[in-house]
Amino acid sequence: MPDHLLKKYRAMRDFGVTSEPSGGNPKGTKLPIFVIQKHHASHLHYDFRLEMEGVLKSWAVPKGPSYDPATKRLAMMTEDHPYDYASFEGVIPAGQYGGGNVIIWDNGTWELIEPGDDPVKALKSGKLAFRMYGKKMFGEWALVKIHGRGDGKGNEWLLLKHRDEFANADVDVTEVAPRSVVSDLTVEEIGASKRTWQSNRMSSGKAPTLADKLEEEKGSAKKNPAGPATKTKRAPSSRPARSAPARKKAASAPTRSSRAQSPPKAEPTPRRRPR
Ligand code: MN
Repeated sequence: MPDHLLKKYRAMRDFGVTSEPSGGNPKGTKLPIFVIQKHHASHLHYDFRLEMEGVLKSWAVPKGPSYDPATKRLAMMTEDHPYDYASFEGVIPAGQYGGGNVIIWDNGTWELIEPGDDPVKALKSGKLAFRMYGKKMFGEWALVKIHGRGDGKGNEWLLLKHRDEFANADVDVTEVAPRSVVSDLTVEEIGASKRTWQSNRMSSGKAPTLADKLEEEKGSAKKNPAGPATKTKRAPSSRPARSAPARKKAASAPTRSSRAQSPPKAEPTPRRRPR
């Protein structure tokens, strides 16, 4: 039951506004999972998360991981995130905590190398060395807490690559592999696609079904006003005909907001009051 670990995470977010998950339980993979999310908030950074105690222990790594063992990357420890956060990518709404685009930059499993065999104890000791089995992250890595910094808040760590067969001082993994391992989108692209998806929801209320589309085509094919049975044919076709352009135009922001604020309303037929 990781609930007690998620108080801070939940207190920082309004789940009526953001589509980020509020909880979730581990799926029970043989090894604990990890996820690295590329997050374009006010500053671009990589959120490095390791499953532990049923939640995701988290660090914000401004420059992302480096395969060069000589390059130590600052990693600021942040609040525990729920297990289900590992599958989150999309847009955190502006004004919300961490507002901006998120992609799943890498994911997979990890295992502790040292010290001992209890990750929580290792974490508390301020040093953990581990092996990663991702799509971009392989081999041995370590997180080491920085001690003796008077001005620090005690949340500063370093992420570093151990010397092994995967170590490489020449290739910047964040440069050569910038895309999501789930959607293959960049952190910029996910913004565009998710905004479209959101506006689709706002403008039409639901995704068009096959029946909607057929009805739409039937409506535009039989636009003969003089045709017979106009009454029965027109009634079902009038609604999809209006919502179709709304869906197509959904990608442009001004259209979306104007639609969202003033949904098309049927003008009531003006009735003359008897005087
Ligand atoms: Mn972040």
